[in-house]
Amino acid sequence: MSRLVVNDLHAEVVGREILHGISFAVSPGEIHAFMGPNGAGKSTLAHAIMGRPGTTITKGTITLDGVDLTNLPAYARAQAGLFLGLQHPLEVPGVRLLDALVAAIAGGDAARIDEKLHAAAEAIGLNPALLERSLNVGLSGGERKRSEIVQLEVLRSPVALLDEIDSGLDVDALSAIGKHLSEAVADPTWQLSIVAITHFRRLLDVLTPDRIHVLVDGRLVDEGGPELVAVLEADGYARYRAPREDPFAL
Ligand code: ADP
Ligand code: MG
Repeated sequence: MSRLVVNDLHAEVVGREILHGISFAVSPGEIHAFMGPNGAGKSTLAHAIMGRPGTTITKGTITLDGVDLTNLPAYARAQAGLFLGLQHPLEVPGVRLLDALVAAIAGGDAARIDEKLHAAAEAIGLNPALLERSLNVGLSGGERKRSEIVQLEVLRSPVALLDEIDSGLDVDALSAIGKHLSEAVADPTWQLSIVAITHFRRLLDVLTPDRIHVLVDGRLVDEGGPELVAVLEADGYARYRAPREDPFAL
């Protein structure tokens, strides 16, 4: 059970500022969706919150239950309760999912973790044979996304940042994962909070957000309830962009 507060976050990637002052707060059991055009900085926001190397926070703070995470390395933020499901999960040859989870749950009993891993894979529809492979190696896009949710299920992190978890999933997988995440949010022993980055309404149809945030050019430009999704789907993001001078105007 944790409250995530992001305050005036500025972040750079390769020396260029991508996020120009992002503020929002997510309470336990809330689902916040972040939507915006390609290149808006959505993944950069997830990386900055998680502490992914290569994304540098230059101003602002990230706190979880009042604990300042801003300058901690990614593993310490994970231990504090953050989980990031990457938009493009990486292949890690030579490391099985079980090995990674046993390392993550330091001091955990490997047999017990393996049991949980198989139960989670079954619940989420990930073929258990894939658990024997190296992390993400030879997995399809959809299988990688399921694997991210399986990891979340085993770790039971209180705050999940899910970057385009719906991309590459078929409709059945999407509803299964949406249902699963909704249950985790409603589960009083977990009270999962979700920051869901998505382009598509279909995820938000199965995972009803409390708030929608619109990110354009590294700034939050609009916020609303679930009704905003239909507006964005119909009108796109053009109305949020600063009008550019037309170089061909007379
Ligand atoms: P979104 O997820 O909203 O599509 P990103 O956060 O991936 O957007 O990217 C935001 C901006 O940061 C883009 O202009 C992108 O080109 C730039 N960017 C992201 N990662 C890198 C990187 N590793 N090197 C250079 N530019 C990057
Ligand atoms: Mg992205």
